[in-house]
Amino acid sequence: MNRFYTYKGAIHIHTNLSDGTGDIYAISNAAKKVGLDFIIITDHNHYDIDEGIINGVYVIKAQEISPMQCNHYLALDVNEVIPPNDDANVYVNKVRESGGIGFAAHPDEGFIIDKSGNATPRKNSHHCIPWTDKNIKPDGVEIWNWFSNWADNLDDSNIFKLAYAYLFKNSIVTSPSRLTLNWWDELNKESDKIIPAIGGVDAHALKIKKYIFPVTVFPYETCFNTITNVINLPNKLTENFKEAKGQILNAIRFGANVILNQNIVSDIPKIYIKNKNDIFYCGSDIIIDDGTNLYIEAKKTFEISLLYNGRVIDKAISNNYLYQINDCGKYRVELSYKGKGYLYTNPFNIKKT
Ligand SMILES: [Zn+2]
Ligand SMILES: [Zn+2]
Repeated sequence: MNRFYTYKGAIHIHTNLSDGTGDIYAISNAAKKVGLDFIIITDHNHYDIDEGIINGVYVIKAQEISPMQCNHYLALDVNEVIPPNDDANVYVNKVRESGGIGFAAHPDEGFIIDKSGNATPRKNSHHCIPWTDKNIKPDGVEIWNWFSNWADNLDDSNIFKLAYAYLFKNSIVTSPSRLTLNWWDELNKESDKIIPAIGGVDAHALKIKKYIFPVTVFPYETCFNTITNVINLPNKLTENFKEAKGQILNAIRFGANVILNQNIVSDIPKIYIKNKNDIFYCGSDIIIDDGTNLYIEAKKTFEISLLYNGRVIDKAISNNYLYQINDCGKYRVELSYKGKGYLYTNPFNIKKT
């Protein structure tokens, strides 16, 4: 098997330059403690921070274009502040024209999805900021936002439920919204290219001074131990920051990342497609031949769903899985562990020529 290099990173982080509380030194230190290789900072409508290798972590600056009510957009690989606008098309186009890549942030925040896939509005009064106009086509989608998932499932109808949600925060974080996954699949069905996805933590480490001692709600370190982007690179990350930044952002641009919740289980399975000539990770265009198979190799046993053009075509419970690919189109894998969403690959794009 060809050697690929994997790196872990957290995306969607706020510093004290917007509504977070830490600076990049404290934040990169928290990332280092959790074993992350890179972090991508996305302050609201702000871009003026240092980047580089800080505390041994690649710190990359980006921004969250943030109108007041809706349509937040994570803009990566852009070298200037792009202002918010009431019309999301304006900044979606601006990011694209600048050579950057944007991801619709927390698109279906505000809805709880039950086991049958029905959506009902969340039960608490927290302000939610969804992506309201699904006709506007982003470059990519933040399919899983840890803080939104927590806030959507928060029941603050009494102090005990509120305390439980805070103390056992990860127990109410479930999986990406099915509404968002469906939208992402639709965007992929409409496009020949891969429309990539990322996972975000939306870390703020808010400090609340309501009581005698200030309490940090969701410290950076806690957030970094949750939704993670694991990128696959053909080469090692270089020690030259500028080059390494290009390697990381390129991987994200093409969907060479899986999105997983580190808090669920400690196992990063190998998920790849092999044809007669080569081996490919997600985010690849792959020419089909009569020996094209998808493989999953894991240490733990997972509930596996294989999706083809947005439709589940196979399910299994296993640590070792093989599926023979006979048709062109987009394939992606979802893994759950003991009933909870764990890992979501970007699509593999199967083509004839
Ligand atoms: Zn936001
Ligand atoms: Zn945010």
